[in-house]
Amino acid sequence: MEAAAQFFVESPDVVYGPEAIEAQYEYRTTRVSREGGVLKVHPMSTRFTFRTARQVPRLGVMLVGWGGNNGSTLTAAVLANRLRLSWPTRSGRKEANYYGSLTQAGTVSLGLDAEGQEVFVPFSALLPMVAPNDLVFDGWDISSLNLAEAMRRAKVLDWGLQEQLWPHMEALRPRPSVYIPEFIAANQSARADNLIPGSRAQQLEQIRRDIRDFRSSAGLDKIIVLWTANTERFCEVIPGLNDTAENLLRTIELGLEVSPSTLFAVASILEGCAFLNGSPQNTLVPGALELAWQRRVFVGGDDFKSGQTKVKSVLVDFLIGSGLKTMSIVSYNHLGNNDGENLSAPLQFRSKEVSKSNVVDDMVQSNPVLYAPGEEPDHCVVIKYVPYVGDSKRALDEYTSELMLGGTNTLVLHNTCEDSLLAAPIMLDLALLTELCQRVSFCTDADPEPQTFHPVLSLLSFLFKAPLVPPGSPVVNALFRQRSCIENILRACVGLPPQNHMLLEHKME
Ligand code: NAD
Repeated sequence: MEAAAQFFVESPDVVYGPEAIEAQYEYRTTRVSREGGVLKVHPMSTRFTFRTARQVPRLGVMLVGWGGNNGSTLTAAVLANRLRLSWPTRSGRKEANYYGSLTQAGTVSLGLDAEGQEVFVPFSALLPMVAPNDLVFDGWDISSLNLAEAMRRAKVLDWGLQEQLWPHMEALRPRPSVYIPEFIAANQSARADNLIPGSRAQQLEQIRRDIRDFRSSAGLDKIIVLWTANTERFCEVIPGLNDTAENLLRTIELGLEVSPSTLFAVASILEGCAFLNGSPQNTLVPGALELAWQRRVFVGGDDFKSGQTKVKSVLVDFLIGSGLKTMSIVSYNHLGNNDGENLSAPLQFRSKEVSKSNVVDDMVQSNPVLYAPGEEPDHCVVIKYVPYVGDSKRALDEYTSELMLGGTNTLVLHNTCEDSLLAAPIMLDLALLTELCQRVSFCTDADPEPQTFHPVLSLLSFLFKAPLVPPGSPVVNALFRQRSCIENILRACVGLPPQNHMLLEHKME
């Protein structure tokens, strides 16, 4: 069935104005209270008005680590699609596409037609979104290679595609960046030939100037900054240093310890640009989060959820959701790209290990029938650098679960995935969804003052391994719960009820 590109909701609750779509929406939920050992559940309903501005901006995306595998692959992918490139391979001609992008290649069901069949539209049709082919890229890298050379160094794309892209990428040069050797592996030092000199305060100012320069020279309405540079070691959260916005800004002023990624986050927030962290380290320290809150700028993170973790957040959800007691999860990875080389250093590996390890917590905690308080499966993550396999990452997982009456189920998975070809569409979705969220505001009957989403944009959880959420909010890792969250919030913006999959129409006589 061909996917229709446009739809309108015909309802008195939805108004398509020249500037915005306004939808009245009944948010039905429940509150649970504990009274004398009994759980009492109270259905609740809140009336929301959602307003989504229809005008999509000219959007720029600035990548920190632009010359890396992900940065060069994303830039190449958008150019290849814009130029409608096709190229020969040994298995026939391939054409540019956006496979792997939720917004571009995923669909949502609008409901049943007269024949009782579901009607699907592309995810991107739900609300006005920036078209990926219209994105403008810029960015920074500590390595000075231009984007064409970076694409060649990455060894991700077929040669026939690289040749066609070369003239379009040659003129793209990453801006100098901030290099603080102790944050990334020592094996990265040979790349660092494109650096911003000066004190931390001067470096911060330079990043801010770069953002403003890109905005004016490319004639942009908005910029989103995305960290896709090397994984850094964790930085210690220290009272007085980075625990509040004020302390963090003072730390930068005094030249005390701050990671390059946090410096970029602060620069972006001060320039009013959303900042997204695609790596596992704790870039968004409490001081950066407070700054985002004060300035009402969106931040999101951490660590793109692309291969092994994505599968894990489906598989463990399936196992525990089916009532099987998963007791051991062992994950081996080996990869041969520069990310792998950086992760071969212990402190950088540690950042990745942490972000990969927490991914089953919510599923375990959701099932007190299977797990006693504090009980959790053994969970072990190993990453090894094997240069020969390049960007083609191998992930081997073993899941062992208890069955009824003493049985055991062991699932073994071997996942080979071209890492950057999985990450690039995720980066695209992050930019497009963040931009869309910036155009949504809402109010409730009880609080008629329009507001926007919380600056910690947890709606992006589907795309991150270790999702950042507002303080006190539950962290959801289960992939399809995360997907439903995005889908249902976007549906709410056009006055559609949440997707409930009940299909009651087909269960009646
Ligand atoms: P890469 O090593 O190819 O690219 C990183 C780039 O960042 C390099 O070009 C490097 O020179 C540059 N860099 C390092 N420090 C910098 C700094 N301070 N400022 C500017 N540039 C800097 O790695 P990649 O495969 O593109 O992955 C990028 C990041 O995304 C890694 O942290 C990785 O862990 C994370 N990630 C990747 C995936 C995936 O599937 N590819 C998934 C999750 C997370």
